[in-house]
Amino acid sequence: MSALTQLTIAEARAGLRGRQFSARELAEAHIAAVAAARPLNAFLAETPERALAMADAADQRLQRGEARAMEGIPLAIKDLFCTEGVLTTAGSRILDGFKPPYESTVTAKLWAAGAVMLGKANMDEFAMGSSNVTCAHGAVENPWRRRGDNRPLVPGGSSGGSAAAVAARAAIAATGTDTGGSIRQPASFCGIVGMKPTYGRCSRWGIVAFASSLDQAGPMTRSVRDAAIMLGAMAGHDPKDSTSAPVPVPDFEAALTGDIRGLKIGVPHEYRLDGMPAEIEALWQRGIDWVKAAGAEPVEISLPMTKYALPAYYIIAPAEASSNLARYDGVRFGLRVPGGSLDEMYENTRAAGFGAEVRRRVLIGTYVLSAGYYDAYYLKAQQVRTLVARDFGAAFQRCDVLLTPTAPSAAFAIGEKQDDPIAMYLNDVFTVPVNLAGLPGISVPAGLAADGLPLGLQVIGRAFDEATVLRVAEIIETAAGFTAKPAFLAGGG
Ligand code: GLN
Repeated sequence: MSALTQLTIAEARAGLRGRQFSARELAEAHIAAVAAARPLNAFLAETPERALAMADAADQRLQRGEARAMEGIPLAIKDLFCTEGVLTTAGSRILDGFKPPYESTVTAKLWAAGAVMLGKANMDEFAMGSSNVTCAHGAVENPWRRRGDNRPLVPGGSSGGSAAAVAARAAIAATGTDTGGSIRQPASFCGIVGMKPTYGRCSRWGIVAFASSLDQAGPMTRSVRDAAIMLGAMAGHDPKDSTSAPVPVPDFEAALTGDIRGLKIGVPHEYRLDGMPAEIEALWQRGIDWVKAAGAEPVEISLPMTKYALPAYYIIAPAEASSNLARYDGVRFGLRVPGGSLDEMYENTRAAGFGAEVRRRVLIGTYVLSAGYYDAYYLKAQQVRTLVARDFGAAFQRCDVLLTPTAPSAAFAIGEKQDDPIAMYLNDVFTVPVNLAGLPGISVPAGLAADGLPLGLQVIGRAFDEATVLRVAEIIETAAGFTAKPAFLAGGG
């Protein structure tokens, strides 16, 4: 394991600018680490030649003193982002062989900031899932193991390949997307930082759509500072996405002042779930004590609609997905399975191309949008969504950010919860409301469970106030002093 793969973005940035190593050396170390991490199945495509060419271009800029924000930083890109000329499958067989003729706005921005692409990260099919078990190309393994138990664990999902790659030091950072928790929950399961920005902060253009009113791209990193640096490079208004917000992008890194004195930190009592492990409850209390010790003031707040958020999400997200996924018909992208008629070709293609979870979502979505059930389910869920957002609005009258656990459990074994979709959906109980309300949220590694697995705490903020979210997250990161490393690193791969 090379020392170069242990660096954060901020450290690599300093080392590159100080000529301690070149972007090529940094890329080579990571290309080797990507190869060593193959047993985790975190990548669907490796792009070493492209990485080296991008690194050489970065070295030239560094030499000319023209380094940009992410110059020479090697990244994994979730396979949901279209990358020009590079296989993009969204973890689905239906996009077999699809090489987009265009680049997503977010990845284009990262390359324009000097970043280097290592490859495409594995994910749950069409970003539907919390375990990375629903990928058409096999499950991703979490680089962590329970103490004294060698069963392979899930990395969380849907950005599980991204999280596993960053935790296993195969990439300095990665892109993720979060529709109901898919950045924050895998970050929590893999002991890294994951941030979902405000809806509209990052362009969705060129990201394969799951549920368009909820999807948002964000950074997955090994420090809060890195999240601030990378978000700055990803964010910004894009005329190609009508929901992208025409608001300026602040200097997020400058927001990390280390000073949260006087801030009010809301603690929602509805998040104290029955049956939640005591150690998660205890970690949450430790988080409250940390922000208090830093001069902030915890306040008890109420989000009464919390219990309706998850059911509403599992109506709205499948409804939007069933509409978005109608485009995969065997005509335009990827897989085509011939049939006797046009309709039969559609049916054959979709039956062969979509996995079980995607089919379940398309069925649910089509059902809740159908004429007889629209009012009872879809419309009702939209009303609940408004009430969930109102809850947060009322809470933010009384506090500046909210502090909660990220997920109700640590990572579980591959195969566990697989036959019980409801148990799987419960993973998102603390993350989904944030998407419904369009707010920014971050997961920070805050401690270890008794069995040695990482646990995250979540900070939620007002719309477009990522700066305060990051500032509070950094305080928690410092107080937690999380330095534990996954078993995969100790084993040398
Ligand atoms: N686990 C959630 C789902 O399955 C969230 C997925 C996501 O955020 N992309 O829908």
